[in-house]
Amino acid sequence: MISKPVISVVTPVYNEAENVLLFFHELAKMARTVSYRFELIFVDDGSSDNSVAVIESLADEVKDNKNIGIQLIQLSRNFGKEIATTAGIEASRGDAVIILDADLQHPIDTIPTFIEEWEKGYEVVIGVRNTDGHGNPIKKLGSEVFYKIMNRISETKIVPHSTDFRLLDRKVVVAFRKFTERQRITRGLIDWLGFKRGYVRFETRERAHGQPSYSTKKLVKLALNSVTTHSLFPLRLAGYVGTIFMVFFGLAGLFTYIEVYLMADPWGLKITGTALLGMLVLFAIGIVLSSLGLIALYIANIHGEVANRPLYVVSKDEEI
Ligand code: UDP
Ligand code: MG
Repeated sequence: MISKPVISVVTPVYNEAENVLLFFHELAKMARTVSYRFELIFVDDGSSDNSVAVIESLADEVKDNKNIGIQLIQLSRNFGKEIATTAGIEASRGDAVIILDADLQHPIDTIPTFIEEWEKGYEVVIGVRNTDGHGNPIKKLGSEVFYKIMNRISETKIVPHSTDFRLLDRKVVVAFRKFTERQRITRGLIDWLGFKRGYVRFETRERAHGQPSYSTKKLVKLALNSVTTHSLFPLRLAGYVGTIFMVFFGLAGLFTYIEVYLMADPWGLKITGTALLGMLVLFAIGIVLSSLGLIALYIANIHGEVANRPLYVVSKDEEI
């Protein structure tokens, strides 16, 4: 008998004791509807509640279940969701990997649709949140602005409201493992990889239990991190502004100097010494800012080398 293809489900867990059972039961229910075996990888991200005990208690439930196996990876402390997810992806062995939150905000009953897209040949299937869900209006506005800025400045395009809820083909997982950078946003890296992408829309649900551990402060940090790891636009912007200042006030200063001091104000402009001083100061600020922009170019090179991303990613290599 040929064994069924395996799908790994990677779930980072941080204080989700109340959700794990519910999560598992929904997953088991879904697993019965598709002809795949599931490898469930829980990555405990240093939970301080009894998440680990609850996950261990699932052992009995899967003992005789041929369709689901469970692996529990415990990190030594809280490393954050992005790292926990990476740990799970690296440990996965399935033909495809699905990244899924433990809090049931990613509807498990849409997984068969992800799988269908994968079967159609899409190598990365991305869950896209419907915007008109509930939620904090400030966070909503924040995310709109974030996607606008990111798409302007980053080299990889992202579909707004795409989430971490994703399916990755084995190929993509193999490529993903080559990343060595430490400051990482999983979905940013996946976006960078390319491959054939499909999308599945879903309605976000409320968290089943507990509070999201991503506070607004953490989200702002995450957003800033995405911007600074994907682009040097802010620094470049300083450079552009500086160059404009330098050129404009340099010329203005020169004009004033000639007009007032060399030609004795033939047009009667009566430009004061203070104004000239202002122009000089702004000219100097322009020099400083444009130098910053120049430094940005050097940093961009260093950043690129240090991140040490693969030079290219091959999606297919065959003799024809
Ligand atoms: N999570 C984690 N480590 C953390 C914070 C969160 O592994 O430091 C997990 C959490 O258990 C959940 C997922 O990441 O499975 C998403 O977290 P959360 O629901 O808090 O974030 P949000 O829904 O706001 O993205
Ligand atoms: Mg959540």
